Amino acid sequence: MATIKKPKKLRNFRTKMRFSWKNIIIYVFLLLFTAFLFFGVSQPSGNGFQQSVKTVPLSQLINEVKQGKVSEINVYPNKIDATEKTGTIESYKETSADVYQLFKNAGVSLDRTKVVINDQTDLNNWLNILGTVLPVVLMIAFFYFIFRQARGAQESVFSFGQSKAKLFSKDTPRTTFTDVAGVDEAKQELTEVVDFLKNPGKYKAMGARTPKGVLMVGPSGTGKTLLARATAGEAQVSFFSMAGSEFMEMLVGVGASRVRDLFQTAKKAQPAIIFIDEIDAIGRQRGAGFMGGHDEREQTLNQILVEMDGFTPNEQLVVMAATNRPDVLDPALIRPGRFDRRVILELPDVKGREAILKIHARGKPFDKDVNWERTAKRTVGFSGADLENMLNEAAILAARLGKKAIDMQDLEEAATKVKLGPEKRRLQSDLDRKMTAYHEAGHALVSWFLPNMDPIHRISIVSRGMSLGHTMMEPTDRIHETKTHLIEEISVMLGGRAAENLVFNEMTTGASDDISKATEVARTMVVEYGMSDLGPINLDQEGRMPYEQTQISPAMASKIDDQVKKITDDAYKLSVDILKKLRGKLDILAEELLKKETIEAEDFEKLIGPKKPALATAHAG
Ligand code: ADP
Ligand code: MG
Ligand code: ZN
Repeated sequence: MATIKKPKKLRNFRTKMRFSWKNIIIYVFLLLFTAFLFFGVSQPSGNGFQQSVKTVPLSQLINEVKQGKVSEINVYPNKIDATEKTGTIESYKETSADVYQLFKNAGVSLDRTKVVINDQTDLNNWLNILGTVLPVVLMIAFFYFIFRQARGAQESVFSFGQSKAKLFSKDTPRTTFTDVAGVDEAKQELTEVVDFLKNPGKYKAMGARTPKGVLMVGPSGTGKTLLARATAGEAQVSFFSMAGSEFMEMLVGVGASRVRDLFQTAKKAQPAIIFIDEIDAIGRQRGAGFMGGHDEREQTLNQILVEMDGFTPNEQLVVMAATNRPDVLDPALIRPGRFDRRVILELPDVKGREAILKIHARGKPFDKDVNWERTAKRTVGFSGADLENMLNEAAILAARLGKKAIDMQDLEEAATKVKLGPEKRRLQSDLDRKMTAYHEAGHALVSWFLPNMDPIHRISIVSRGMSLGHTMMEPTDRIHETKTHLIEEISVMLGGRAAENLVFNEMTTGASDDISKATEVARTMVVEYGMSDLGPINLDQEGRMPYEQTQISPAMASKIDDQVKKITDDAYKLSVDILKKLRGKLDILAEELLKKETIEAEDFEKLIGPKKPALATAHAG
C-alpha cells in the first residue's frame, strides 16, 4: 500500500513554529507598548501642564530674554526652558555650557529674569530619549524573538552538516545472532559478511570482490534492524546506524553532507558497518516522484552511491540497508558493487515463532502450563516484533492481576490484543487453519496433476498481506500462452474453492481473490485472444476511448458472458474431478500443512510423488 507521507521537513516546521497563546500575548503587548512610546511620549510636551512648548534655537531664546518677554528660565544640564506669557519655549544647550556665560557672551543681562538651576536632567528629556531609543530596542527584541522561534524549527542550522548517526562501538552490550531467530537463511548469508569483517586478509588473498552493500528486505517487525545490529555484534565491529528519513532536513544539501560525514566517520572507525534503516525514504526511484521537489532526496541518494563507489578494496566497511518496500527502490541501488546482496526476511513459520518466543521469554517467569509449541501454532502471521509485543502484554496483564507467573490465559489474551491490528495478524481457530490448509492443498494438487502447469515451489498457510496462505509455482519461460495452459491455470485458481466445497461442503470468502483472477483470465481469453466459440474477434472494451468503442450489442455482451461462464464452469469441474480422484493425497497434504505450515518443493515431491511430464496430448478444457 502506498501511503503518501508528508515531507518530514514540513512536519518539523509545523510543530516547532507553533505559536502558543502565551507567545501571541507577549507579541501583542510588545507591539502596543512600542506604539504607545512612539505616539505618546515622543510627542513634544512641556512640563506637563502647559500645552504649547516650542523648541527654538538657543539664539532665539536668548533674543527673547533680551526683549524682556521671559519671566523665568529653568536651566537643566542640557536644556533651558523659558516661561513667557504666551507659553513656554525650550532650547537645547551643551551640557558643559554654563548658562551665565552663554548670556554674557551674547551680551544679554539676566537681571530681570528669574533663573532656576536644576541639577537633574529634565525627566521629560529622559523620556524623550527613551521615546526614541526604546522603540528601536523593542523592535530589535521583537524581531529577535521571532527569529529565534523560526530558528528553533531548524536546530540543524548549527549542526546541519553532521550526521546524527547512532554509534554502537565495540564495547556496547552486544547483540548477536543468538538474539535473532526464525530467519536462518538470512543469518546464513550474513555469516559471510561477518567473516569478511573479521578476516579480510583471507578474501584479499583470493582476489575476491568482497561484499560492500547488503540490502535486507522484509515486512516490518521481522527483525531487519535487529539483525543488522547482530551482524555488527558477531563481527565485533563498530556500528553506525541512521534512518533514511534522518538525512532529510529543512535545508537543501544537508542530506548529502550528512552522508559524506557518516561515511567519513565510519572510515576512521573501520572495520565498521554502516546501517541505513528504511532506505526507501531516500532510495525511491529517481524521477518517479509525483509530488515534485525531490531534488534533495536525489542528491542524498547520489551521494550514497558516490560514497559506495569510492570504497577502495582494502576498506573494511560494509553498508547494510533495510526496507520493506523493495519494489520502489531505485535500480541504481542494486547494481553490482552497491547493494548487490539481498537478504530476504520473511514472517516466521511455526518453528521460528517458537524460537523467537523462547528468546523473548528469557527473564520472565512463566507458569508450568505454558506450552510454547501450541502458542507458536496459534500465532499464525505474527512477526517477531508482534511476538515480543505479545509477551510483553502478557507480562503486564499478569502483573496487573497480581499473579506470580505468566500463564497460558495471559498469553491468549495478549495475542488477541496484539492481533487487533492490521488484517494479516490473525489468530486463527483450528477450523480456520484446517480450511486454509485444504484450500491451499487444493491449489497445489490440481496444479501438480495438470500436465502443463509448472512444478510446485512452495505451499504455505502462513498468512501474508490479505491472503491466508499461498501456493507458489516455479514459472518456466513461455513464449506463447496456449489455450490449454490458460484453462489449466484457471482450474488451479479454482482448485482452492473446489477443495473447500469437496471436504467441508462449505465455501469461504478466502477464495474471492482466486475467483476474480480466474474470471479475468477467462474474459481475456474470450474478448482478446479469441479463444472461444465466438471466434477470433476482438471484443475488448478496456483501455479504449469512449469515441473509439466498438459497439457491442447487448446480445453480443451476453454471449461473451456465456462464454466466460462456460470456461470457468468447465475449469471448476475439472478441478473438482481431479480432487475427487486425489482425495487421499489431499488429506495427506492438508495434514502435513497443518503440522509444518510451509512445505517446500522437495518435501512436496516426497509426500505426493513426482510430477508427470507435460504431454503433447494434454487435455483441453
Ligand atoms: P524491523 O526492523 O524488521 O521492522 P526490528 O528489528 O525493529 O524489525 O524488530 C523489532 C523487535 O522485534 C526487535 O527488537 C526484537 O525484539 C523483535 N524481533 C523481531 N524479529 C525478531 C526475530 N527474528 N528474532 C527475535 N526477535 C525479533
Ligand atoms: Mg526496523
Ligand atoms: Zn486460493
